[in-house]
Amino acid sequence: MGKDSIMQEDFFIQFVLQKYPELPHDFHFSSTSFFGLQKKCFEAFQHLSLECKKVLGYSLQILSGKRSFERQKLIWNEKILGLRPIEDEKGQVFPLNFFSSSHELIFTILRWSAFPSLSRHHWGSDLDILPDIPGPKRLILEDWTEGAYQDLHAFLEEKLRDFGFFRPYIKTKSEGIAPEPWHLSFKDIATQWENIITYDLVMKFLETPQAQNPPILLWKEIRPLMPSIFSKYFLLAP
Ligand SMILES: [Zn+2]
Repeated sequence: MGKDSIMQEDFFIQFVLQKYPELPHDFHFSSTSFFGLQKKCFEAFQHLSLECKKVLGYSLQILSGKRSFERQKLIWNEKILGLRPIEDEKGQVFPLNFFSSSHELIFTILRWSAFPSLSRHHWGSDLDILPDIPGPKRLILEDWTEGAYQDLHAFLEEKLRDFGFFRPYIKTKSEGIAPEPWHLSFKDIATQWENIITYDLVMKFLETPQAQNPPILLWKEIRPLMPSIFSKYFLLAP
């Protein structure tokens, strides 16, 4: 991720901070070395990585940290347009003409990509990690459940909480976001965001000119689905 994509303005976060100025929003320290993460979260990750090195013999690397609303919208629009691959759980790419309806296309993208404004990566508290070892940089469930990262999977299960993290997308569900064992959330900060990101707040933002310029593709089709998208692809199961 380039410096520009981290530093660029994030209209959604600005919109929320105007209403909730007490939220952690010191992104000024953001640099490529922090991946746009809040300082406390980045430091906790470094400690976790050191512990991993002690136990498993390798450090951890961050594949993705903070992602702005604008960046997430670009990813979303590129997937709709077929400019960016849409993959299934094994990393197989769906052919462009696979989807028979926009409804089907929308819900398949949502398995793996958050709808812009509903990504936990907006907050500076969430990150995707991999072992810092040579090899392809891919995020595929099989690697964690029956492949090379099973040890890391078990290590995280045992140690994450000690470092202030949890994994929000760990359960296999037939709908909603697919399991992402590589996605870590720094609880102290993430909980503050979880508490204030409501359906009404998100919808208010998505109707602003800033949110829709450039437009979110298929927004007319998506809008009536938003209550269900919000509850199934954003709210965490208790
Ligand atoms: Zn993630």
